[in-house]
Amino acid sequence: MTPEPAGIVVVGASLAGLRGAEALRRGGYGGPLTLVGAEPYRPYDRPPLSKHVLAGELEPGATRLPELTALRARWRLGSAAVALDRAARTIRLSDGSVLAYDRLLLATGAEARPWPAAAGGGLSGIHTLRGRDDATSLRAALVAGPRRVLIVGGGLIGCEAASCLRDLGLPVTLVDPNPTPLAKTLGTFVGSVIAACLRASGAEFRPGTMVRAFEGDASGRVVRARLADGSAIEADLVIAALGATRATGWLDGAGLMADPGGVTCDAACRARTAAGAACPDIYVAGDVARWPIRLYGGRLVSVEHWSNAVEQAAHAARNMLAHADDQRPYEHLPAFWSSQFGINIKLVGLTAGADSISVVQGTRASRRFLAVYGQAGRSIAALSFDQARWLPAYAEAIRAGDPVPPILGAADQPRIETAAPGFPPPRAAAPAAQPAEVAHG
Ligand SMILES: Cc1cc2nc3c(=O)[nH]c(=O)nc-3n(C[C@H](O)[C@H](O)[C@H](O)COP(=O)(O)OP(=O)(O)OC[C@H]3O[C@@H](n4cnc5c(N)ncnc54)[C@H](O)[C@@H]3O)c2cc1C
Repeated sequence: MTPEPAGIVVVGASLAGLRGAEALRRGGYGGPLTLVGAEPYRPYDRPPLSKHVLAGELEPGATRLPELTALRARWRLGSAAVALDRAARTIRLSDGSVLAYDRLLLATGAEARPWPAAAGGGLSGIHTLRGRDDATSLRAALVAGPRRVLIVGGGLIGCEAASCLRDLGLPVTLVDPNPTPLAKTLGTFVGSVIAACLRASGAEFRPGTMVRAFEGDASGRVVRARLADGSAIEADLVIAALGATRATGWLDGAGLMADPGGVTCDAACRARTAAGAACPDIYVAGDVARWPIRLYGGRLVSVEHWSNAVEQAAHAARNMLAHADDQRPYEHLPAFWSSQFGINIKLVGLTAGADSISVVQGTRASRRFLAVYGQAGRSIAALSFDQARWLPAYAEAIRAGDPVPPILGAADQPRIETAAPGFPPPRAAAPAAQPAEVAHG
């Protein structure tokens, strides 16, 4: 008798895991399909957590993602994968059970970087924001009416949280080591617009500020942040928005090229072994994947963007079902959105390495503009603040590698303002350690 096929196992039951599983079914896969998820919930959407959930407009449970295809899957929720044995083609789960696989999709995403325990990270009142449970407990803490909320980190999540909290009327201080928020992702030229929004909202923004440690009261609750210059900020609630690390710890010893920066895969999304070979039976997608991006010279990138999780999962699923001779490269133009201070922000492309930025439509002063990042005269990314109508055209220009600025004579193009983007120089690692290459944290 032929033994039953072990089938496909998807590790990580969130956006990439779900969309990957759906693509497998849509692609005609009819065999056994198992989704393993560390969290006890069916896949849910993270973007609303730092926006509508914090604002109290949406219950955390209302973020569940729609299932677009009948999956006929076995769900193993609430049990994390803890080990991978590639030779035996099995994974071990935290409940001790062992699952066999024929093919594996790694979609374990990322985890919020915690505040270090040695610097007061164990105090109550210090929150991170990555999952549904984080949002539930942070929302409860906000409803309790904190005297002052300190947000450490002016990345996308720190800024979105600050915007939400100001809408709730809460006193907020945001600190960041750089001269402006979003400096690492967008540069200070654009970050200064967000700094102005923060201040106009009534938040206190303290640039160039490093928190060294948190101090607590006798009950173990945070009361203040001690800064690197010895001064202090009093705060009874802290949001540590320090970026994320990839959820790869369980792969230690599995012989894959995996570390807190991601699981390296080839252009076809196949995981690479430590020796560099592509595994024919293990694919990677979403935040956890680190892949060579052809459009940017084949350098390895890993992004924390919703659209990549969806597209890469579908692409990996397609290749999982295809013959070894028909493995197609993943051609993706990274893109994300954010909403904060009433502004809809959208970025296409990668800004890293940009040496110029040109405002090609609108103006920074009006907070409604479209800007193009250039590198050595070539357009590499485009950013819009409430001005996304032409963004698809700029995305095409980036794909084509057009010179910067790529489009002349566009609507609402009174004068093209060009400047240096103002990316901060790399810093030595501090308690607030470095975010990943393109973080939403
Ligand atoms: C608060 C917040 C707001 C965001 N807002 C935006 C936005 O506005 N725009 C945008 O483009 N992007 C945004 N993002 C990013 C976007 O949500 C992510 O890119 C997306 O969730 C990635 O999906 P993923 O499935 O790859 O990873 P994740 O969503 O991180 O999911 C991975 C899943 O794997 C599970 N897992 C981890 N380890 C294991 C294990 N060993 N075994 C089993 N399961 C495991 C995790 O518990 C998790 O459920 C936001 C992210 C956050 C956190």
